[in-house]
Amino acid sequence: MINNPQEINENNQLIARFMGTGYSATNHLTLYHNNWSWLMSVVDKIESIKFHGCDFYFVEITKLHIIIRGTTQGILRKVEDGEKLTALWLAVVDFIKWYNKKYESKFKDYFADLDKWENSFYCNECGNSEHHNFAYNFTTSNSEVWHCKICKTDTQVSFKPKEDNY
Ligand SMILES: [Zn+2]
Repeated sequence: MINNPQEINENNQLIARFMGTGYSATNHLTLYHNNWSWLMSVVDKIESIKFHGCDFYFVEITKLHIIIRGTTQGILRKVEDGEKLTALWLAVVDFIKWYNKKYESKFKDYFADLDKWENSFYCNECGNSEHHNFAYNFTTSNSEVWHCKICKTDTQVSFKPKEDNY
């Protein structure tokens, strides 16, 4: 049993955000820690996350442990005093904290590389360096060729960063 109302509230808020339901003052949103069907909807959401088109995270609920596979270290919570629901709730919270952190850094790196890539555009002919003043033309084996909209000259840039690679 988790008896700390602040911990319950904070964790349920974290879950609600993950579920995309937001966390208004609505009381029923506080059910995640003590309602199986609410918590199972979170399990379903975790297991529906795809990575390169495949299922990636698996939640195992056993008599003794809750295990979430697919994360870097794996997530494991012991079922104490037969409180399976509490163990699952804690495991799901562990997962969401890990997931949020992973995606924060993922998007930070991705957007930084995307900025760098956009800033690398430069037309040797007219000096145009604004990414939006280029149009994609074609891709070769080692670069992309973009077309300067101002002077109509082709220029080579590196491959555009792909979100999937982060
Ligand atoms: Zn140009």
